[in-house]
Amino acid sequence: MQTTARAMMLVEPRHFTDTAIEALGSEDGGWLAVEATGISGNDVQIWKGEARDVVYPLVPGHEVVGRVAVQGPNVPYPVGTRVVVEPRIRCGVCHRCRQNLATCVSRKPTNSYGMIPSIEPPGLWGGLAELLYLDPNAHLHPVTDDVPAEVATFVHPLASGHTWAVELPALQKGEGVLILGPGPRGLACLIAAKVAGAGWVGITGLSHDGDRLDLARRLGADLAIDAEHTDVAGEIAGALGRRPDVVIDVTSDDPEAVFTALDLVRSGGRVILASTKGNRAFHFLSDVIVAKQLTMKGAMGASSVGYQWATSQLETDPRIDDLVSHQFPLSEASHALQAAAGLLGRDELISVAVTF
Ligand SMILES: [Zn+2]
Repeated sequence: MQTTARAMMLVEPRHFTDTAIEALGSEDGGWLAVEATGISGNDVQIWKGEARDVVYPLVPGHEVVGRVAVQGPNVPYPVGTRVVVEPRIRCGVCHRCRQNLATCVSRKPTNSYGMIPSIEPPGLWGGLAELLYLDPNAHLHPVTDDVPAEVATFVHPLASGHTWAVELPALQKGEGVLILGPGPRGLACLIAAKVAGAGWVGITGLSHDGDRLDLARRLGADLAIDAEHTDVAGEIAGALGRRPDVVIDVTSDDPEAVFTALDLVRSGGRVILASTKGNRAFHFLSDVIVAKQLTMKGAMGASSVGYQWATSQLETDPRIDDLVSHQFPLSEASHALQAAAGLLGRDELISVAVTF
């Protein structure tokens, strides 16, 4: 294996340095030769300096696909195996891990790939580098060799889609699901809900999401609408004839989506909140939760069950080819982040990957 990795290090918000980092990890770990890394909304927040619990410098990128380069004692797959790495590292013994929560506290500020500071040895904790250190507690899932690496990065949003749309709401066959936000994770929720037997799936976006809403229709959405120029409640009433059983908030930067979700869901329904709202204060009237007897759940990341489902779905669902619309080489990491942020235009933008 090469002993030095080229890495794009984010030294401060919006400022990458093209650098080389020595691959000197503990013998308990292994190494992954990165093939491609998807760029998510969370990566955009880190790049902009808007994410919580982030210490710079760091190597961002947590939607990693690569091949095992050094197996390490805790890696069950031989050198050369193509895998995805779950972003969350779980020590298994801290109080959060014992409660099966996604936020292991054994490493500060966050025990998660793409968010661990570069001062934490060996510094290669993100997918925007040629090599990724495989922590002894990293969770790997083999993925098919039959798709391009950039397509395989979509396993990550797809896994979240399954966790958020199927596992957390305990989705039942025939139920109606409304997804707020047609980004990669919203589209992944749509795919997962449909495969799980949802009877009806609607999805809403903004005016600039036209191409994502078109793709949602091709992926089988029963309703895909621009919430800025449409009466969403009226459209759902006309299309579904009742209120949805489950509403999932996968918007970005939209505190209002919480109200929309609580307003539109049926009495006794479930609301899944999978997007953060930052420090934007808003009045929250909790009575609607009481009056409608709602269940609300906060969602962070994907479960291992979600990853298992997503890796098998990748093998059999050729539509996933359409979900990664833009790719950039490592040297153009800044452009990749700008593209994912929508700063290079929204036409034909679905999701973005960096390829090696
Ligand atoms: Zn832990």
